[in-house]
Amino acid sequence: MTLLAEQLDDLAHMPRLPGAACRGANAAIFDQAPGDGHARGARKAAVAICGACPCLVECRDWVHRLAPDQRPRGVTASEVILTDIRVNRPQLR
Ligand code: SF4
Repeated sequence: MTLLAEQLDDLAHMPRLPGAACRGANAAIFDQAPGDGHARGARKAAVAICGACPCLVECRDWVHRLAPDQRPRGVTASEVILTDIRVNRPQLR
């Protein structure tokens, strides 16, 4: 289990996502956002991983239920989220 997956599991309202494709993946690629160095390729790789994830629908439902300023910056559920996190940010994906 990646640190990201562990941190996501720690979020009280985060659904458990058995089989999440980001577990075991290079977690750093999910944290890339515009302005980060070498971000474009990393974002594309993360989006592709999400696209094949069996938990995509559940993950997307969860992230869409969060207030915009609570959504994790970077790639989650195949979406690039540009806002900075103030609450519930997985610190070290
Ligand atoms: S959709 Fe992406 S961020 Fe969500 S659990 Fe799957 S791989 Fe992880």
